[in-house]
Amino acid sequence: MNRPYNFSAGPAAIPEEVLQQAASEMLDWHGSGMGVMEMSHRGKEFIAIYEQAEADLRELLAVPPEYKILFMQGGGIAENAIVPLNLSRAAAVDFVVTGSWSQKSRKEAQKYAAEVRTAASNEGDGFTTLPAPASWQLSRGASYVHICSNETIHGIEFHELPDLKALGSDAPLVVDFSSHVASRPFDWSGVGLAFGGAQKNIGPAGLTIVIVREDLLGHALPACPSAFDYKIVAENQSMYNTPPTWGIYMAGLTFQWLKRQREGELTGVAAMELRNIAKAQLLYDFIDASPFYVNKVAANCRSRMNIPFFLSDESRNNAFLAGAKERGLLQLKGHKSVGGMRASIYNAMPMAGVQALVDYMRDFERSAA
Ligand code: PMP
Repeated sequence: MNRPYNFSAGPAAIPEEVLQQAASEMLDWHGSGMGVMEMSHRGKEFIAIYEQAEADLRELLAVPPEYKILFMQGGGIAENAIVPLNLSRAAAVDFVVTGSWSQKSRKEAQKYAAEVRTAASNEGDGFTTLPAPASWQLSRGASYVHICSNETIHGIEFHELPDLKALGSDAPLVVDFSSHVASRPFDWSGVGLAFGGAQKNIGPAGLTIVIVREDLLGHALPACPSAFDYKIVAENQSMYNTPPTWGIYMAGLTFQWLKRQREGELTGVAAMELRNIAKAQLLYDFIDASPFYVNKVAANCRSRMNIPFFLSDESRNNAFLAGAKERGLLQLKGHKSVGGMRASIYNAMPMAGVQALVDYMRDFERSAA
């Protein structure tokens, strides 16, 4: 089946093999007589699905044994509250603001943390740069330092996580990795917690992944809802409340798909990283070489997942989107707060899709000349 290329920022494209497998198992999972959505989360069938998904994610992201993997609900926006409810200990927290998502996280934390400080921010330059870690004003004794490692709206990515120890901070790093989880290997040293909604790189909306270092459990503020207390969730293997079973199953199929991906010697997320670098480079190189298209993000922090761009003549935006749709290139409209276009090219987007986009952009530019 020839499906269009889907550039949505999320919920986003899912690998076709994963969708096919889910379709084939929809009515009867492995001879059980039940579809996954119809199973008790406590039955042996679903427990097997859950355990495999958790083990595969641990393997893919090389999650060390002292970290718990939690499958929760609420999405990244709920985590903006759940993280300070669990980790702030009613003390100060540091935020590095690099775009809309870290900005939103900071605002929500103000409801729960005793004090919210801004260690660094790129607000002044229109969210186009990454403040150099050496310039961050980290506070002494902060409960944690929050970053968003890939800003989905502004297209800014930390290509390396900061080393807080080297910057003089003992605080654990909290990372919102919603929009690039599993797109590259992840360095856990210094990370206390990472969270992300599944709906970009992992599966359907409704599942939130939280990976948290064990020593940070058990310090929730008294007001923290039990269903969102990481210690309670961890003690109950993510089944204190009914977990998002369909999301966990779909994520599990995606993890199996990821484990099958190869680039030379590399497999899994290391193979994906190689592909993602090549995909992003194709598009950025084309944009940079053309006077017709613009991306304003500094070269050292351009996202490999979300590439916002503008037509230099914005009166052509609607024609661009209509022509793209005719060519089977969907959901390229930029976020409403930024305008222009945005191509989200997560793991499920093949190189052929990015090439088709670049070919279309070249043709559109010529036709407009
Ligand atoms: N963080 C980031 C980086 C995101 O891209 C998003 C969603 N686009 C969120 C948080 C919020 O996630 P949700 O809508 O699942 O709450």
